Amino acid sequence: MRIDGSGTLRAGCVLCPNPGPMTLEGTNTWILREPGARGVVVVDPGPHDERHLERVARTVQEQGAQVQMTLVTHRHFDHTEGSRYFSELTGAPVHAVDPEMRVGGAGLEDGQVIDADGLLIRVIATPGHTDDSVCFLLEADNALLTGDTILGHGTTVIDGDDGLAPYMDSLYRLRALVEEYRVRTLLPGHGPILTSPSAALDSYIDHRESRLEQIRGAVGAGLTTVEEIIDRVYPDIVLSVRPAAASSVRAQLRYLAVRGELPQGIES
Ligand SMILES: [Zn+2]
Repeated sequence: MRIDGSGTLRAGCVLCPNPGPMTLEGTNTWILREPGARGVVVVDPGPHDERHLERVARTVQEQGAQVQMTLVTHRHFDHTEGSRYFSELTGAPVHAVDPEMRVGGAGLEDGQVIDADGLLIRVIATPGHTDDSVCFLLEADNALLTGDTILGHGTTVIDGDDGLAPYMDSLYRLRALVEEYRVRTLLPGHGPILTSPSAALDSYIDHRESRLEQIRGAVGAGLTTVEEIIDRVYPDIVLSVRPAAASSVRAQLRYLAVRGELPQGIES
């Protein structure tokens, strides 16, 4: 499965060589460009890996184009740590929801349409993975850049204990948006592109709903700590992703607690 170089007419992927349990094959840096235009938008420069960042800049240059702006899908370092160096390389500002992630750039608002040398990009707020997560809709390609809200394979983790409710809302929102804009391709922050967006979203939604059922079951069976619940719900988990699982379980407990579904005395 080739990720580097894949994409749509207006979006091409440069894969950063930072594979890992949380980054899958590595971070996907996306180069967006209206055919024939000179101005280019880069999404998620990636971690501070100078060879990768220089390769992205060179790829743009070889297209006879120029980076007009960089956007980030969310604040995590594997998407943003290279922003400053990339901005130095290209002279282009970095726009982000989180003010701390901007480099000479502005914010991103839900519903905002960015016109970059004829390329139209609609910002879709999708909090959950992080509270500043956004997706970018490329209407002309019926494509959606999903950051870490939807990954090329596996499922995403939710950062923070209050993220599940917004995340579920974001999944249902994207499910409707995929229909409305006839989205045919998802371009994720990690992993390969997805060509069955509705099926991908359904499986994300089903996964979360069935996990919530398991948590309800664990609590119903009398388990009271996060560690006990992890052992029951994720019996084969490897140590390296256990903190992520703990975060996910806490988020689910909070989600159930907010809905009045948790008895007293449950650690969350
Ligand atoms: Zn990531």
